[in-house]
Amino acid sequence: MTGKELQEKLGWKFPDIAEKYPEHRELAEEFCRDYKRFLDEGKTERECVKAAVSMLEAAGYRRFDRNASYSAGDKVYLVNRKKALIAATFGTEPLEKGLRINGAHIDSPRLDLKPNPLYEKDGLALLKTHYYGGLRKYQWTAVPLSMHGVVILEDGTEKEISLGEKEGDPVFCVTDLLPHLAGEQNGRKLGEGIKGEELNIVVGSLPYEDSEDVKEAVKLKALAVLNEQYGMTEKDFLRAEIEMVPAHKASDVGLDRGLIGAYGQDDRVCAYTALQAEISVKDPVYTTLTVLADKEEIGSEGNTGLCSDYLLHFIETLAQMKGTDYKEVLANSMCLSSDVNAAYDPTFASAYESRNSCYAGKGCVLTKYTGARGKSGSNDAGAELMAKVIRIMDEAGVCWQAGELGAVDAGGGGTVAKFVAAMNVDTVDLGVPILSMHAPFELASKLDVYHTYLAFCAFYRGK
Ligand code: MN
Ligand code: MN
Repeated sequence: MTGKELQEKLGWKFPDIAEKYPEHRELAEEFCRDYKRFLDEGKTERECVKAAVSMLEAAGYRRFDRNASYSAGDKVYLVNRKKALIAATFGTEPLEKGLRINGAHIDSPRLDLKPNPLYEKDGLALLKTHYYGGLRKYQWTAVPLSMHGVVILEDGTEKEISLGEKEGDPVFCVTDLLPHLAGEQNGRKLGEGIKGEELNIVVGSLPYEDSEDVKEAVKLKALAVLNEQYGMTEKDFLRAEIEMVPAHKASDVGLDRGLIGAYGQDDRVCAYTALQAEISVKDPVYTTLTVLADKEEIGSEGNTGLCSDYLLHFIETLAQMKGTDYKEVLANSMCLSSDVNAAYDPTFASAYESRNSCYAGKGCVLTKYTGARGKSGSNDAGAELMAKVIRIMDEAGVCWQAGELGAVDAGGGGTVAKFVAAMNVDTVDLGVPILSMHAPFELASKLDVYHTYLAFCAFYRGK
C-alpha cells in the first residue's frame, strides 16, 4: 500500500455535499421553497405553532386524546399554551423499547414590548422594549421591524396582532445616530454601541386630528389607531405579549443562490426539518416525538420551555396508556437536541478553531457538547450515543460534520440538550450551521437544511 492509499484509509475529512451529491442541489432547492414560506409565516413561537398545527392536520395528525387507544402508525399532536407543541407517531415496537425524541425550539431573539411601552417625546410616539435572548443590540437599529403578538381585552376577547408583514403595511424602527453626530457614540465599546434603554421603537409622528387641549397628541393618535384596529386601550398593553421582529422576508443569498437569509432560522430551521421528517415517517420502529419548544433563548424557562415538565408528563401519560413504566421508556430513549451551531466565518476566523468548527455546505453538525468555561452547562454526549447517531446517519448516506461552538473560551452557549438528558435520556445536539447567528438576518446553506432533514428522517425511521 502506498503512503497516499494508507492516508486515505486512515485519515478522515468531511466531504462537501455539493461535490458528493451534485444532484442534491435541485432537491435542496425544492425542499427549501416551503421552508422559506414557513419562516415568513412563523415569526413568533405562537405563529410557528399555528403553522405547524396546520401542516400536521393536513398530514392526518389528530389532537392527542388520553382516553383514546393508539396503535402503530397513528399520528397525534398536543399544543402547550399556544407556544409549544409535541407531535408523535406511534411505533411498531412497544413503548418501553424507548422513544426517538427530537427537540427543536421555535422562539428566536427579538425585541419584546415592555408592559407599559407607549410614550411621547419631542413630537414622536415611541415604544419601550426589553430585548429577548442574546442579541447584539447595535444590529437592531435602522432595520424595518414588524409587530406581532396577542392582546387580551378587558372583556376577554383575544386579538391577534400582525402588522408590518403584508404588502402596504406600515413597519416600525429603532433609530440610530447619523455618522456626522456619532463622535461620542463611536467611542463606546461595540457591546454598548446601543444600550438596552436606547432600543426604542418609533410608532408615530402625527398628532391626533382634534388636538385642542390635548397633551401628548401624538401618543393619542397612536392609541387611537390601535383602538380602531384592535379595540385596545393603553391598559391592554398590560394584558398583551407583543414582539417586534425583522419585517423582511426569507430570501436566497448569493449569485448561486446557495444560501437562505432570514430572521429566526435559529432554531426554526431545525423545527421545520424535524416537522417534515416527523410527517414523512410511516410506521416507525420506535415511537417518535417531535418537540417544538419555547423559551430556549432565555434558558428554557417557564412552563412552555423545556425546563417545564410538560414533555415528561406527556411521556408519563403515554406510558400509563400502554400500561408500562415511564422510567423504562425514558431510559431506553434517544434524543436529538436539534439546534443550530456557529458556522465558521472566515472574516472572524480567530473566534473559531478551524479543525473543530462546522462549515456551511458540509451538512448537519453533530455537537458532542456545548457549554462554556470547560464545558460548564453542557450535556456531554457519550461515545456510545455518538456511535449510534453516526451509524444512523452513515447508513442513510447523510452528510454530517462535527463542530464545537467556537474556540475554547471564546464564549459559549447551551441548548435544550441538558434538560432532556436530565430525564435520563441519551441526548446529543444536531443541527444546521448558521452564519450571523442571532442577527436580524441569519444565513444557512440550502444543502445543509436538506441534509438535516435527511438525518432526522433516518433517525425517526429507526432500527
Ligand atoms: Mn438555538
Ligand atoms: Mn439561539
